[in-house]
Amino acid sequence: MNQEVKLGQLSRAESLPADAVAALETSIARRVGRAIKDFTMIDDGDRVMVAVSGGKDSWTLLHILRKLQKRAPVKFELIAVNIDQGYPGYRRDLIEAYLAREGYTYYMAHNPTYDIMQEKLEPGSTGCSLCSRLRRGTLYRLADELGASKIALGHHADDLLVTLLLSIFFRGEIRTMPPRLVSDDERHVVIRPLCYVYEDEIRRYAQAMGFPVVSCASPFCEDDSNMRPQMKRLLDQLERQYPRLKNSMLAALGKVNVTHLLDRRYLPLNGAGRRESPSS
Ligand code: SF4
Repeated sequence: MNQEVKLGQLSRAESLPADAVAALETSIARRVGRAIKDFTMIDDGDRVMVAVSGGKDSWTLLHILRKLQKRAPVKFELIAVNIDQGYPGYRRDLIEAYLAREGYTYYMAHNPTYDIMQEKLEPGSTGCSLCSRLRRGTLYRLADELGASKIALGHHADDLLVTLLLSIFFRGEIRTMPPRLVSDDERHVVIRPLCYVYEDEIRRYAQAMGFPVVSCASPFCEDDSNMRPQMKRLLDQLERQYPRLKNSMLAALGKVNVTHLLDRRYLPLNGAGRRESPSS
């Protein structure tokens, strides 16, 4: 999840004109719908638990899923879930007030991890990775308790691209966050319906809609060892220099030519498979 600037409730007058907001919403909803279809994210009868941290991404996800729910060919339920991890100053009250006011079905969970973070955080490891792991465990437990068949997370296209860069640069592996992930014990399915939507669009949409964006308030995600913000800056800088670079990278994630990489598991080294052409 991304660290947010605490914006509070923005007035709609400060943001885009209504027709621009409607166009942006349509564009985002179309790509969320496409992602749901492409990766079979939601089935008839699903109870989708949306993890709402209070950041712009999760608000956008929740709002767009409710829009799609009204016209989707399949019937599914939505339940918003917020986990207060006990970081001092976290404004869960703003989140709950908005969920109640907007008529969402929701559940507010309190699962303090502040002490565990202090105790277990090792030098050199990032607060966000440990925090995410702890939160993932809580989400799985809540999904069981609430009877949720899918867990929807607000990761967007930029998150996927940054994860790809981190993986290549520092883990020697080509991978990213999957749009649909079945847990190791096969009891939970995590979905990322915003995987085709860029962060900048979400930021503009969240501002225009006046979502009550709150920060995670964790003191553990600001350390210098957290490479994610640095990769984000690099990606944004490259996009400014080469417009549509992110589009190309995202398209590349959906078009992997495994025989033109160095992974021996996918190469026809035993003589089987397609031969290389001289110009390859
Ligand atoms: S510390 Fe946790 S809640 Fe805060 S940004 Fe990192 S992962 Fe998200």
